[in-house]
Amino acid sequence: MSSKSKIFVLVGPPGSGKGSLSQLCIKEFGWKQLSTGDLCRKHIAEQTEIGKEIDFAIKSGKLVSDSIIVDMVNKWLIDQIESEANVLLDGYPRNLAQAEALADFLKDGKFADVGLHIVKFAVPDGVVINRLSNRCICSNKDCQAVYSMAEGSPCRPKKDMVCDLCESSLHIRSDDTIETIKERLGIYHEYEDAMLGFYAKQGSDILEVHATKPLVEVFEHFKSIAGLED
Ligand code: ADP
Repeated sequence: MSSKSKIFVLVGPPGSGKGSLSQLCIKEFGWKQLSTGDLCRKHIAEQTEIGKEIDFAIKSGKLVSDSIIVDMVNKWLIDQIESEANVLLDGYPRNLAQAEALADFLKDGKFADVGLHIVKFAVPDGVVINRLSNRCICSNKDCQAVYSMAEGSPCRPKKDMVCDLCESSLHIRSDDTIETIKERLGIYHEYEDAMLGFYAKQGSDILEVHATKPLVEVFEHFKSIAGLED
C-alpha cells in the first residue's frame, strides 16, 4: 500500500453485496480485498488456536472479539505495505472500537498519506433476509461464486447445488439461517450509526451505493461516485 493507495471501507449489512463488489474491483482493477469473515472462516477450517472462539461467535451470529479481529487486520495491512494496489476492507471495521483502532493504526507514518473512503451499502432488511436465506456458495475456495435458490431468480445455478462455473458443489453457510441472519442484522444496525457518525466527524469521504440494484449497476455507480471511470 503506497502513500498513493486508497482504502475503501465497505459498510453495509450482511448480504448487501460487499463481497460481490469487491470481486469486481479485484477483476477490473487488481485491487486487494480483506474479508474479515473469510479470514475468520479460514481459522475455523484450519482449526487454529483462536478458531474455536471464532466458530462459536460466527455460529451464533455474534461478533468475534475486537482484539482478535484488530490483530488480524493490522497484520494483513502490514503485509500490504509493498503493494501499490488499493485495498477493500469488507466487514471491517464493524463497530466504533474497530473504527477507532483502524484510525489509530493508520496514524503510523508509513500509512499516514493513505486515503480512506467509506462506501455505504443501502439496502432494506427484507431484501437482505431474502437474499441470505436463499444464498448458496461454491465450495471451491478459488471460485466462491454466489448463487440464489430463490424461485425465478436469474442467479439460480443451472444444475441443483452445482456451480455453473467450475462444477464444484454448492454449500449453504452455517450462519445463513433465519435466526442467525436476524441476529447479524440486529448487530449491524446496533453499530452502524456510531461508526458512520465517527467517519462523518472525521470528515471522511462517505459514498453511498443503492445495493438493491443489480450488481453490474451497483459497480457502475460505485465507479462513477468514486471517480474511477476513464
Ligand atoms: P456477513 O457480513 O454476511 O455477516 P462475514 O463473512 O463478513 O458475513 O462475517 C461472518 C462473521 O464473521 C460475522 O457474523 C462475525 O461473527 C465474524 N466477523 C467478521 N468480521 C468481523 C469483525 N470486523 N468483527 C467481529 N466479527 C467479525
